[in-house]
Formats: sequence, structure tokens, C-alpha cells
Amino acid sequence: MKRERSTVVEPERTLPVRTNCDVAVVGGGPAGIAAAIAAARNGASTVLIERYGALGGLATGGLIILLLTLDDGTGRQVIAGLCQEMIDRLHARGATVQPPAELWGSEDAEQVEAYSRWGLVWGRNPAVVRNAVAYDPEEFRAIANDMVTQSGATLLLHAWGARAVVTDGRIDYVAIESKSGREAIRAQVFIDASGDGDVFASAGAPFEAVEVHPWLWFRMAGVTDADAAVHAARHGVFKTPPGEGRILAPWGAAGRIDRQISAIDVADLTHAEIECRRMVMAEADRLKREVPGFEQAFITDIASQLGITESRRLLGSAVLRRDQANQRLAGVIARTGNWTKAGMTYDIPFAALHTPAIDNLLAAGRCISVDHRVHHATKEIPACFATGEAAGTAAALAARKGIAPAALDVPTLQRQLLRQGAILDL
Ligand SMILES: Cc1cc2nc3c(=O)[nH]c(=O)nc-3n(C[C@H](O)[C@H](O)[C@H](O)COP(=O)(O)OP(=O)(O)OC[C@H]3O[C@@H](n4cnc5c(N)ncnc54)[C@H](O)[C@@H]3O)c2cc1C
Repeated sequence: MKRERSTVVEPERTLPVRTNCDVAVVGGGPAGIAAAIAAARNGASTVLIERYGALGGLATGGLIILLLTLDDGTGRQVIAGLCQEMIDRLHARGATVQPPAELWGSEDAEQVEAYSRWGLVWGRNPAVVRNAVAYDPEEFRAIANDMVTQSGATLLLHAWGARAVVTDGRIDYVAIESKSGREAIRAQVFIDASGDGDVFASAGAPFEAVEVHPWLWFRMAGVTDADAAVHAARHGVFKTPPGEGRILAPWGAAGRIDRQISAIDVADLTHAEIECRRMVMAEADRLKREVPGFEQAFITDIASQLGITESRRLLGSAVLRRDQANQRLAGVIARTGNWTKAGMTYDIPFAALHTPAIDNLLAAGRCISVDHRVHHATKEIPACFATGEAAGTAAALAARKGIAPAALDVPTLQRQLLRQGAILDL
């Protein structure tokens, strides 16, 4: 009888080098977009590699189209920079809903209720209006394309970062897979903005990984009097730009699938896609059947990416911990509020983006080095923009000097981030 083999050995092969650049960013979500733009604007030759055909990650493909939050919950803005630039461009296209600045931090019950219907108020005790933005994902995608290409970065869509090859503690190249075949991307500094830490895991850096319940957000149109319909649904649906008659069903169905999944396991991902989609169809039917205003409604889009809150997190040079909330840290490169807790902020230190394991690697976005509780705040889209902008800026400065990012003078990096519009309150 033929014996089943459990492994095979890949033959050695020669790869063409597609690009030799200063900074290579893997992952084109909010963090990767910001990282690539920041690196390119700081003079680095930059390539941004994204596995799908559009930019935005969960902020577009996941239909997670709520920027929560840019403030500390007491009326003070704590994130700006490239995230603010994206918002300004979305505003200019009429693609946003955002409470005016004079309402940020307000506990006024009427205003809280009004903005809750857009999905912009979360957390209780007290519930406050936040600086948060609901937006249209197609406008976000088009603006992201413009911002990345105008920055001078080279964009490679439809390309997977497949493997990081390490020599003497440095990533020598990342192998990408695409319709063009397997190719090598060489860079002085690599930024892992894949959300799942694909690059640092492949490079052998230490990490933590968790399993989560997956979600599949969706939108419907044809809702009669969306305001009343959202009220009638009680919870689980929000009004959403760009126009009347549209709703966003966050979290997908009202229930959860049968189990938590690993977002870095292909069988689990497949199970989640099938189950979540089945539940979305059932939920849309339920809304049409049971909730006044939904009788003529129809699904316009179901997220093309599963909503995965968390998978791998880097164990970096420092791990930002829950007990460091509201502490001012000397190495801060980004600050974030907490979308469910007014008055709570975290200073994210530069050491949460790098690792002693690999010299020329930075992480950005939801896979940075924080504990599970802090991740609740740092995974939000504005915070991912901020850590992406910091990583891209640091990578460009390090490449210019020919040094490892961890060897950078942090005050120099902070001054540059402040010049770019970051809020650090040093
Ligand atoms: C259910 C749910 C609800 C949420 N609610 C909110 C909310 O209301 N407001 C808010 O602000 N945030 C919310 N978040 C968090 C937020 O959406 C994400 O944490 C954030 O988008 C992470 O940004 P990122 O750039 O780090 O990663 P991602 O958005 O995951 O982007 C990663 C990108 O990398 C690409 N990629 C991955 N692997 C590879 C590879 N190997 N090669 C090439 N490309 C690759 C992906 O295709 C993707 O484009 C929510 C998250 C979930 C799951």
C-alpha cells in the first residue's frame, strides 16, 4: 500500500528580485496605507504589497466603516496626522457623518441617541458623544489609492507576502506570490502591517496568538425611513452614509457562529466564511420579516473580508500593558483613546513596534506589541493609522541613516511626527 506523506521538501529555486527599495510594507489596511505614505513622503523608496485588489483592509473590505475614535472622550482630539487627512478628504467628497467638535465629550441624551443611530457612540457610564466618523468605503478606497500613489510609493495589489527570509537577524527579502509568479522584494526596512503578523511570524519573531469569534458585516438599501427603522430594530443596525435608505448591520447576524476560530488557519477561515454568510442571509430575512421599514430592503454588499478582531500580536521590545493606561510614556509615538471608556488613553511607545529578534522589522496596526486588553483600543482604525504613520516615518529615517529602526533617536522621530500633524503632547 502507498504510504501517505505528511511533508514534502520544496526544491531550491532562484527568484527574480522585483524591487530593491528602502522600505517594504506588507498589508494595505489602515496601518499599511499610513506606513507607506509616511515612508514615501519622508523620501524613502517604498513598496506597498496588498493581497487583495483594493486598499483599506477591514476598514473597507470588512465594512468596518466607523472610525472609532479620535478623541479621549472628554472632548480632546488625540489622533490626527494621516487619519485626519483621510477624514478631510472624505468630508470634501460628502462621504462622512461626524459629530461637530463642540459635541465631543457631551453627555446630552438627545445627541447621544442621535449619534448612536450612526454607530458612533459605544460604552456606557457615561455614554458620551465622541470624535468618531461614519464613512463610505468606496470613497475611502479611491482616496487611499490617490494618497498612496501621490506619495510616490509603488503599489502592488494582488500580491501576497508569502515568506520572510532572514540572514543574520535581518530580513534579507520577502517572497511574494502573484499572477507574475514568486518574486523577491528586498528592502532596508520591512513593515508588517498584515494585521495577522504574517511577516514577523515567518521571520521567527516571538508572538502571541488568540482565537476569536468571526463576524461578517453587511449593508442593506431600500429601507423606508432609516431613522425609524433603526429605532424599531432596537439594536444591531445603524444608519450609514452615503444616503437615506441605507443601513449597516455591524457584527453581521445577531448571534455568533458555533465556535471561536483561528484567523491563521485556512480550514477555520473557510468554516467561518460559510457559517457567517449563512447567518447574514438569515438575519437579512429576519429584518425584512419582522422590522417595520425593512419590507422592501435588500442586501447591497456583504463584507469581502471576515471581521477578525485579533490573531497574532508581536511580543516586541516592550509590551504595552493595561496598567499603563493614562500614563505618559517618554517613548510615545502615537496616542489613542478607548472607544468604550471615556477618559482613558494609552501612549503607544516606539518599543511596541520593534523586536530584538529581527533588526530591520517594524510592526504596525492591530498586530503591534500590546496585551489583550490594550489591543481593544489599539486595534481601532484611527490608532492603526497612527502606528502605521509612526512605523513608516521611522523606517524612512532609519533607512536614510543606514541603521536599525530600534537604534533611532526617539526624540528625532517624535519631532518629525509632530511636524506631520501627530498629536503626542510631549
Ligand atoms: C468585528 C470588528 C469590529 C470592529 N469595529 C471597529 C470599529 O467600529 N471602529 C474601528 O475603528 N475599528 C474597529 N475594528 C478594528 C479595525 O477594523 C481593525 O483592527 C483595523 O482595520 C486593523 O487595521 P490593520 O491595518 O492593522 O489591519 P487590517 O485592516 O486587517 O488590514 C490588513 C491588510 O493586510 C492585507 N494582508 C494580510 N495578510 C497579507 C499578506 N500576507 N500579504 C499581503 N497582504 C496581506 C489584508 O488583505 C488587509 O488589507 C473592528 C474590528 C472587527 C474585526
